[in-house]
Amino acid sequence: MDDEPERTKRWEGGYERTWEILKEDESGSLKASIEDILYKAKRKRIFEHHGQVRLGMMRHLYVVIDGSRTMEDQDLKPNRLTCTLKLLEYFVEEYFDQNPISQIGIIVTKGKRAEKLTELSGNPRKHTAALKKAVDMTCLGEPSLYNALNLATQTLKHMPGHTSREVLVIFSSLTTCDPSNIYDLIKCLKTQKIRVSVIGLSAEVRVCTVLARETGGTYHVILDESHFKELLVHHVSPPPASSGSESSLIRMGFPQHTIASLTDQDAKPSFSMAHLENSSDPGLTLGGYFCPQCRAKYCELPVECKVCGLTLVSAPHLARSYHHLFPLDAFEEIPLEQYTGERCCQGCQGEIRDQHVYICKTCQSVFCVECDIFTHETLHCCPGCIHKHPAPSCV
Ligand SMILES: [Zn+2]
Ligand SMILES: [Zn+2]
Ligand SMILES: [Zn+2]
Repeated sequence: MDDEPERTKRWEGGYERTWEILKEDESGSLKASIEDILYKAKRKRIFEHHGQVRLGMMRHLYVVIDGSRTMEDQDLKPNRLTCTLKLLEYFVEEYFDQNPISQIGIIVTKGKRAEKLTELSGNPRKHTAALKKAVDMTCLGEPSLYNALNLATQTLKHMPGHTSREVLVIFSSLTTCDPSNIYDLIKCLKTQKIRVSVIGLSAEVRVCTVLARETGGTYHVILDESHFKELLVHHVSPPPASSGSESSLIRMGFPQHTIASLTDQDAKPSFSMAHLENSSDPGLTLGGYFCPQCRAKYCELPVECKVCGLTLVSAPHLARSYHHLFPLDAFEEIPLEQYTGERCCQGCQGEIRDQHVYICKTCQSVFCVECDIFTHETLHCCPGCIHKHPAPSCV
């Protein structure tokens, strides 16, 4: 592999040759080494979030699931398919939590064909329901990377230029059955500014390396189930907007949940617009979210109004994506030997026993690894800073 001129160096590329860094500890176990890799990946993520001025906050993402025979392999428990679907359910929830004004669609590729499991939509319930149902799917034949990407492109190319267009492929097979030259399709994806990332479940596949590199995505091969989850979580945060994408103002409505009072004689129950598509939704109800523009009723947010096209979101939900725009600065990492202050973490009040301490550059508070990761990934603001300046500047 090393004589390929276009292969990037490990420290330059996104693809990790993780098996090369594995080392056995004294007892011959690989566990410590794997934990070290996972830990470093977590820390790296904190740093990656910085210096990104523009993010693709409005995302259109197609998740491609490999449904080929290889998904029946039992190296992930109980098998690759069940494990993948379970993790994707979690991913969909996290995705909509962090990207309230974005959409997802799911594509399955098997038996040399590709078909949509769900259309692009902003309703997490629809996707999780489809994923739950897909557990009974039969895995068959070979996947077709070409057909899956082509199907995603057909929809993504019509999405407005200011949004981010992405595909995330969960690729289990080592082969793909393509009806045409995939390198032409990769060129096409590049011009359409569609970013393709791949998570491999077996081993590196050359076409995926090229695919991710050319379109600006990432390519990783999983180590185990927890690493798989880590890699998925990586795709939850919005990616940096590609330099060529346009800027745009978007009209949004913030409807409040209103319930017609029972004492009001004129109050009549009504159907929500969601009921049109999905008759399993509750039928006649009194309350709901009413589009401020056309008064159409919806049971849940976020949603794009079917009548007037206005994007309807809840204001608190939108505020949650605020931290992507103003992320908390990474804490300074100092080896424990060089640190002279008190070894007490200001987050959990425990003694710091790890090899490093983490210090907030603003308030000089000291944290342990766990609290460092927790503040950056969950809290999004430093507890030390808030304590010193009780009027918080973060949401
Ligand atoms: Zn409307
Ligand atoms: Zn701590
Ligand atoms: Zn601080």
